[in-house]
Amino acid sequence: MERDTQPRLLQTGRVATDTGGGEQAVVRQLIEVARAVLRDTHHIDSIGVGMPGVLDPGSGITRFIPNIPGNWAGVPVIAEMSKAVQSPARLINDARAFALAEHRLGAGRGATSLLGITLGTGVGGGLILGGQLYLGRDGTAGEFGHQTILPDGPRCNCGNNGCLESLARADAIAAACGQPGAEESVAAARAGDPRAQQGLIEVGRYLGIGASNVVVLVGVDRIVVGGGIAAAGDILLDPLRQELARRVHVADVDRVQVVGAELGIWAGAIGAALFAADPIDPHLHFV
Ligand SMILES: [Zn+2]
Repeated sequence: MERDTQPRLLQTGRVATDTGGGEQAVVRQLIEVARAVLRDTHHIDSIGVGMPGVLDPGSGITRFIPNIPGNWAGVPVIAEMSKAVQSPARLINDARAFALAEHRLGAGRGATSLLGITLGTGVGGGLILGGQLYLGRDGTAGEFGHQTILPDGPRCNCGNNGCLESLARADAIAAACGQPGAEESVAAARAGDPRAQQGLIEVGRYLGIGASNVVVLVGVDRIVVGGGIAAAGDILLDPLRQELARRVHVADVDRVQVVGAELGIWAGAIGAALFAADPIDPHLHFV
């Protein structure tokens, strides 16, 4: 793709989430980040806020965020942000933002329909259908990690049992590989540790079962896998590909490309910014 479509990150920064101060402390942190950018640039056209969990992009209100402590039911993040910074702002789930960014500017360029998968503390997902981000009625479409894979599997943070997330999130990967964390699991598998290799194959299979369901249902032509554990590369992606080939018989799986993400740790932030800059209203176009 042409050079001018590449993201130009003018400024990036990281702050640790204030997990001890509840939801208000996190919202204050988000506002502080926006204010810091405003101090430097003197103008912001729009602000995109990407957050994990269940939230409503239409109203800019969070519903349920299991992985950040706090009472997230009904927190008006966007109203508070817009008031504090005096700029239009929009809220989007970080995995949906990842899918949007990778489709526009990363490993998903040129795909008509795409499934984005993020592997980290949880398992996130996002769908591009017909070239557009598909959010469903209330922004929850694309929740790849919360489809049931094992009917009586482990309890998931969402309340269900046997969700893909309960089998493929970072701590489940570590447990499957006999390692303290997901990063160590990948390193051990690369170094030839048979248990870690077997653990990643098992996780890759679960991901492949989930991806097969999506391919059968909506027929995506590309699957982009990102997040920290995606660094495992083909150790994880090959079992996913094999599972697709084994299970999908109603579509031509040879045409489904399974690739690693390209935009790195900033994909979610880039996608949120793109979403905020996009004039499309999800409630008008994605219901
Ligand atoms: Zn779940």
